[in-house]
Amino acid sequence: MGLTGLEIYKHLPKTNCKECGSPTCLAFAMALAGGKASLDQCPYVSEEAKEALDSAAAPPIKLVKIGTGDNVVEIGDETELFRHDKKFFHPTGIAVQIKDTDDVAKEAEKFDQLEFERVGLELVTDMVAVINDSGDGSKFKEAVETVASKTNKAMVLVSEDVDAMSQALEAVADRNPLVYAATEDNYEKMTELAKSKECPLGVKGKDLNHLAELSQKITDLGYKELVLDSGARETSQVIADMTQMRRQAIKKKFRPFGFPTIAFTSKESPQEEILQAGAYVSKYASIVSLKASEKQQLLPLVSWRLNLFTDPQKPIQVEAGLYAVGEVNENSPVYVTTNFSLTYFIVQGEVENSRIPSYILCIDTGGISVLTAYADNKFDGEIIAKKMKENDLESKVNHKKIVIPGGVAVLKGSLEDESGWEVMVGPREAAGIPKFAKENFA
Ligand code: SF4
Repeated sequence: MGLTGLEIYKHLPKTNCKECGSPTCLAFAMALAGGKASLDQCPYVSEEAKEALDSAAAPPIKLVKIGTGDNVVEIGDETELFRHDKKFFHPTGIAVQIKDTDDVAKEAEKFDQLEFERVGLELVTDMVAVINDSGDGSKFKEAVETVASKTNKAMVLVSEDVDAMSQALEAVADRNPLVYAATEDNYEKMTELAKSKECPLGVKGKDLNHLAELSQKITDLGYKELVLDSGARETSQVIADMTQMRRQAIKKKFRPFGFPTIAFTSKESPQEEILQAGAYVSKYASIVSLKASEKQQLLPLVSWRLNLFTDPQKPIQVEAGLYAVGEVNENSPVYVTTNFSLTYFIVQGEVENSRIPSYILCIDTGGISVLTAYADNKFDGEIIAKKMKENDLESKVNHKKIVIPGGVAVLKGSLEDESGWEVMVGPREAAGIPKFAKENFA
């Protein structure tokens, strides 16, 4: 959310001295707004003006990075209250908890193997929260070291004890973990520690008002890599606090709340905990830390996150092309469908269920389904015939037969004319594919 040229111009000296290389201050302001100049080219900008411009140009919610390399989790930098207004940008980090009193090595290994596949996408739990449950600094450090040796995923270090945190950071500061948490009692030392190691810092308030004060005090100490927690643990209060923070940051540009957030679940039963975590993913936690660690418990949560953080204006698509399902050979049937993820993966699943190895020719329709693509002239005889050629279907099979979706039986004639192949009209619903395959190809 940049400033306009005129907004920038108000803060410039207006002497038109040309030293910045622009003929006037206004021209320089316009160049700045367009990203074609940088503020330090004007030697006469006052410190106050610099600060005002920096802070006005800053996003309403700061982007904070946790972790390193391929495992960096980026949170914050959101601009919307509601997904349908544009989109949500940075998916909530899901942080599975491991206590330093657990069998840390075993839990960490299990965590590192948590991976899920849905509609062809690899989904993961991307963070691990190591909790100083023992209250013992050296045990905490040992646990943190063990976790770091077992997984490269981003870490949250959970201890309000500055000494314990300091020991843990000696071991893993280079992994850029989130240091959680600075509180009313320890914030000066905890801030100094996080700042010296250049690690992001969690800030835990007693309630929302107190959090605003604490966040302000810490930014006054010169540290702005913050992640906020109002301290609430009861579901409705957490959601109320998160909503208030997001609203104040985006609508009012209230700086103390201009940071990403973290929420901790409190429910004991896994089902309730996942529901609670799902509510926090929706509104508006940037990180959710939870105890559940089983794949079947976490799958609904990572799926919900996937749904929430996709762009509502862009359907999820798979890459177009020719796919082989099973051990195909020159006699294998060939089905054609579109590259809308749901369509493709439903068709793929049913082709698998048919137990007859087959090809699926997946046509790029911009990620829309068969009937919509047909209505939009993105799925017709000419296009399909062209893709059959491009994917060299003739050299893959020896039978010249292709199956089209039953919903677009009307394409049979034009596709036969364009391709010279025999076109078979498949079932209207993908669920009918196994029966269809058995009747025609078994
Ligand atoms: Fe204006 Fe600064 Fe450029 Fe001089 S150097 S013209 S004061 S913007």
